[in-house]
Amino acid sequence: MTSKIETLRLLEEFDHILRDIETEDYQALGFKDTKPSSEFIKLAEKERAKLTRKVDPRLLSQYERIMKRYGGRVVVQVIREFCGGCYIKLPSELASRCRTELVSCPNCGRFLYYVK
Ligand SMILES: [Zn+2]
Repeated sequence: MTSKIETLRLLEEFDHILRDIETEDYQALGFKDTKPSSEFIKLAEKERAKLTRKVDPRLLSQYERIMKRYGGRVVVQVIREFCGGCYIKLPSELASRCRTELVSCPNCGRFLYYVK
């Protein structure tokens, strides 16, 4: 996994955390009485901001666009040669390139990573 993908994945995780905190679903999990502290929220927001500074602005706007469009799951794994986001079969050449570089799915645009 490239470091760019790693950063994008972390960014996505913070986005999910920050969104979860606000949803009813999260509170329905039984955390009603244990709201996350404002200290934690502030920390998560700070960490997220730190990450965005590490990402190339063009890449970041691509990320934000996909996040907005799909509401999550921006960085997905390649399963065999299938996109883990939209499930199409990727060209073999592309599927192998995502092991060493930052590649996005030609169909859904999500960022792809490969796990051995
Ligand atoms: Zn896809």
